[in-house]
Amino acid sequence: MAVSAVSAARPARRLYLPTIVIAGLAGWLSWRGWLALGQSGVARSVSAGRFELAGPAVLGFVAVVVVIEQIWPAQRRPVLARGHVLDVAYLLLYATLVVPLIVLIGSGFAGVLAHAQPWLVLPRVPGVPGWCFIALAVLGIDAVDWLAHLGNHRIAALWRLHAVHHSQEELSILTTYRAHPLVHVSFLLSAIPILAVESNVVTPAAVLTVYACLGALPHANVRWTYGPADRILISPAYHRIHHAATGRLDINLGTVFPFWDLMSHRAVFPDPDRSRAASATGLAGRPVPVEQAEGRPRYARTMLSQLAEPFTARRTETP
Ligand SMILES: [Zn+2]
Ligand SMILES: [Zn+2]
Repeated sequence: MAVSAVSAARPARRLYLPTIVIAGLAGWLSWRGWLALGQSGVARSVSAGRFELAGPAVLGFVAVVVVIEQIWPAQRRPVLARGHVLDVAYLLLYATLVVPLIVLIGSGFAGVLAHAQPWLVLPRVPGVPGWCFIALAVLGIDAVDWLAHLGNHRIAALWRLHAVHHSQEELSILTTYRAHPLVHVSFLLSAIPILAVESNVVTPAAVLTVYACLGALPHANVRWTYGPADRILISPAYHRIHHAATGRLDINLGTVFPFWDLMSHRAVFPDPDRSRAASATGLAGRPVPVEQAEGRPRYARTMLSQLAEPFTARRTETP
């Protein structure tokens, strides 16, 4: 029995310092956010954040798409497929613990941004309708999210966190919520466009809820492409290419709009031939533990090991 070969294949049990640093940063920002909001402010902001990001509108939208996925699936699979069950667990984690974390680190980050406020906030422009500034903020958020997503793919420490999202081999709308909580530190910059238009308009929460729904839809397990409109709005077939099991692809990084992919020559549009089998998703070699790997599913263990994985150093980091 090649014991040494077995132990060599196992990841080393050392800690991965960059993830500890990111966790420390999240802790520090949360603490600042807690102090800035005050106890009653935290409760109020968390419930507003939950309503905006995981409230009835978003959950209702997800439920409708789950039904559509069963009627017109890209890959036919049962509602209780292992990937779906674990993604629901991630959705519960998101609604209970991750949204409060997003609210706290967001408030902490707002305090940091306050120092740069004079350079970030656009001057007041009378006569320009508010919706123009709202559209500008949404485009700005999408551009910053694209940049953060590119960083998630290019920077090894961020990729370790983002890989949890890419580990899904049974992609569906629910996969939107399969994300390591610490990944949200990299998406904090999306607060800047909202701050930038602040003196002209307050971006309505409903707009951000619609944006959250449009950002979730491309994960749906359907074959939809929008034809020529794929150049305006990201379709499920377009984002599926980003999740291809061939490896870490720095293409199709957009959330809602493909403009930033187009401008940087990173847009790969789906094959219009819908008769072809939907491509496989996931990570080649399964560097992150997955629920499909074992004979019987062990959801709690898989989820905990997915969350812990970025904290462990690997002997050989795969690109
Ligand atoms: Zn990605
Ligand atoms: Zn995705």
